[in-house]
Amino acid sequence: MTITVSREAKEFRRKVMETPGAEKLMRCYQCGTCTADCPIAKRVPEFRPRQIARLVMYGQKERLMEGDLLYLCAGCYTCYEHCPQEVHVSEIVSALRRISLDEGHLLPGFKALMEGVAEMGYIYEIDEFENEMREDDGLPPAPVPDTDGIEAVMRATGFLGKVEASTR
Ligand code: SF4
Ligand code: SF4
Repeated sequence: MTITVSREAKEFRRKVMETPGAEKLMRCYQCGTCTADCPIAKRVPEFRPRQIARLVMYGQKERLMEGDLLYLCAGCYTCYEHCPQEVHVSEIVSALRRISLDEGHLLPGFKALMEGVAEMGYIYEIDEFENEMREDDGLPPAPVPDTDGIEAVMRATGFLGKVEASTR
């Protein structure tokens, strides 16, 4: 059987493979080790690192960008360490997330988290309740973040602007 990959699909694949760490995509021989060992795949049947690698090989951008697939990865690097071909699905997922950010398709929940970091310095508000729980565990209060500095860095890198512009 011959599978034809369109020019757009090849361009998309090339873009992913330009990301440092994702260059070895085409070495994947679909052994499935990454899926077998992935802690998220054990719990979420539709999340399959092996399938992500294959979809990128075939340039299936729409299927990869729809839903929350890319944001299920916990970034644990198990696939990175266990792949016999050093394909690094974790880095491929990072590349796909970057493309989704660049093209304004950031998952709304992730967008809200990032805007929270810019505003509060944390992904959620730290109030008295959290600090009391920390105290119960023998921990000091959570450090007060330099929110101006954090926002300035996020803006200077262009990241925050892309987050705010994302309209998915
Ligand atoms: S990415 Fe690596 S571990 Fe996963 S299917 Fe391909 S070759 Fe196997
Ligand atoms: S980095 Fe992501 S894809 Fe790889 S094993 Fe961890 S959760 Fe699964």
